Amino acid sequence: MIIVLKPGTPREILDEIVQTVTQWSLEPHVSVGSAHVVIGLIGDTRIVSESQCYGLSPFVERVMRVEKRFKRASREFHPEPTTITVRGIPLGADHPVFTIAGPCSVESEAMIIETALAVKAAGAQFLRGGAFKPRTSPYEFQGHGESALELLAAARAASGLGIITEVMDTADIDMVAAVADVLQVGARNMQNYALLKKLGQVDKPILLKRGFSSSINEWLLAAEYILAAGNPNVLLCERGIRSFDQQYTRNVLDLSAIPVLRTLTHLPIVVDPAHATGKAQFVKSMSLAAVAAGCDGLMVEVHPTPAKALSDGAQSLTPEQFQELMGAVSHLATVFERGPRTLSTV
Ligand code: PEP
Ligand code: MN
Repeated sequence: MIIVLKPGTPREILDEIVQTVTQWSLEPHVSVGSAHVVIGLIGDTRIVSESQCYGLSPFVERVMRVEKRFKRASREFHPEPTTITVRGIPLGADHPVFTIAGPCSVESEAMIIETALAVKAAGAQFLRGGAFKPRTSPYEFQGHGESALELLAAARAASGLGIITEVMDTADIDMVAAVADVLQVGARNMQNYALLKKLGQVDKPILLKRGFSSSINEWLLAAEYILAAGNPNVLLCERGIRSFDQQYTRNVLDLSAIPVLRTLTHLPIVVDPAHATGKAQFVKSMSLAAVAAGCDGLMVEVHPTPAKALSDGAQSLTPEQFQELMGAVSHLATVFERGPRTLSTV
């Protein structure tokens, strides 16, 4: 159930309504927009009627039942797009398209700093790199762990880029959060509810990748776990889903998820064309398609020498290819009025 208040509703009236619905054993979720204040009611709303809600105050403009199972993630509860600000950079539908770039795994200090400086020079805002790697086979490179986090911190100091890195285990959250500006939940952990609940208590944004066999509803309900546990800063990342045909691409990039999510949620939408296609040669076209479809950010794998990468080399761009990609992305983003920041808007 949501209650929309008339523009100009006094603060005391809002407070009174919040108090009353709390007495009804419902949890109010208040979203203050530029024109309207929306109060979402969480809990068993079958116990209240629409007319009871209209009766709360003459300032109630509209009352609607929300049938969706995700609430805090929904546009009904939060009609305006969420802005998440990381290191002074605002991210979300109202802002320029941003780019996260870097290797699949942090391999050494020299390579992560070299990559950071190269992607920064090409226009990326964030550096990615895995310290803890979720590998399908236990015999594949698992990441350098804690020591790689220190290398990411060194790369941030050298480049000024914000750091995004994955956390796989609840036991590692504090360690990863001490370095990361944004914590990534990988596709394989999208429904690790113990992890999601703990990340709800972290004071850093979470990039939640879509599980490769997860529906959009399951994905938004996973985001809801983080939001419900108290962390409002979740970015969604589409990274390709499984299909019957894995001969030419690793996964199928669900481009239609972008406009669909836009209708369902206020959370920022990121697209990862590297894990979706699994091949560097397809990353550029899918990045441009994602920007054209309205994504808010891109995540791309870049490695100084992809052929020597310890993981995901086949889908990693060279710094030169990344620079070319960024030229094309900023050109297209400008057409959609989501172009790169000018100095005056930083
Ligand atoms: C990654 O970002 O390196 C990664 C492992 O991605 P995903 O969880 O989407 O497979
Ligand atoms: Mn990877």
